[in-house]
Amino acid sequence: MSQSATYTRQFFTFTHMPDYRLLLACGATFISTFALRAEPGLPPVQAPVEKTPAPARESAITFNSVHVNGPYIAMTFDDGPSAVLTPKLLDLLAAHHIKATFFVIGENVAEHPEIVARAAREGHEIANHSWSHPNFGKMSQESVRSQVQRTDDAIKSATGKRPTLLRPPYGSITEREKRWIHDEFGYDIILWDVDPLDWKRPGPAVVRNRILKETRPGSIVLSHDIHPGTIEAMPSTFNELEAKGFKFVTVSELIDMATPETPHPKAQTAEKTAAKAAPSPKPAASPNG
Ligand SMILES: [Zn+2]
Repeated sequence: MSQSATYTRQFFTFTHMPDYRLLLACGATFISTFALRAEPGLPPVQAPVEKTPAPARESAITFNSVHVNGPYIAMTFDDGPSAVLTPKLLDLLAAHHIKATFFVIGENVAEHPEIVARAAREGHEIANHSWSHPNFGKMSQESVRSQVQRTDDAIKSATGKRPTLLRPPYGSITEREKRWIHDEFGYDIILWDVDPLDWKRPGPAVVRNRILKETRPGSIVLSHDIHPGTIEAMPSTFNELEAKGFKFVTVSELIDMATPETPHPKAQTAEKTAAKAAPSPKPAASPNG
């Protein structure tokens, strides 16, 4: 406990974050980041004797969150575009100068390419969330390939640019699928560490409070721009996150900021302790995404 507290203080000093709540958040980020490294199927973690481990960017395909130095987070919106709600959200994001990431459904892109084009034009990242939202974990390679390729093509057609990220529907994907999709499409696989369960439509206040409670530096926040309550929750959610000092970037920008896992021996001890105390969340088991 004291080792963890000591290291957290050192990390806080290094990142110059002004808000005391973010100090606590830093410690939690280690937990989520270590949980990511411990995920089965990822490349083996470098041996402890390695003094300069490879940056997270080079060693990982899958991200639940990103280890960053600074109060950066990525807001992500899934399952759109929605003809009514996505333009409302884009207006709000523009008013706050926030860049977000949209994990779009290919079918919806084909129906409303102009909304996706607008989002891209306004600086948001457009990413692949399959053609029709099936469960990749239970499908043949050919079917998954078709889902990914058709959506990749639809995004290219709408925005002029191919996506570089995939979020599998429901977070459901096998280790083998992650690997070949990464090899064939060059995609990183993006999950999340903050889930307000907005698809259950619990009301805007609950959505906002869950996001505020769970978000840490480096967080990837999941929500859906197809539910009215989610869009209603966003003005106060953005205000509160801004008040806490968080800065909003796209998922690719967040990954580009990834800093190496520290070789600091005390930190490793703290991480291992934390990982035992707090097992990895399992978004793949969530009905969300
Ligand atoms: Zn989804």
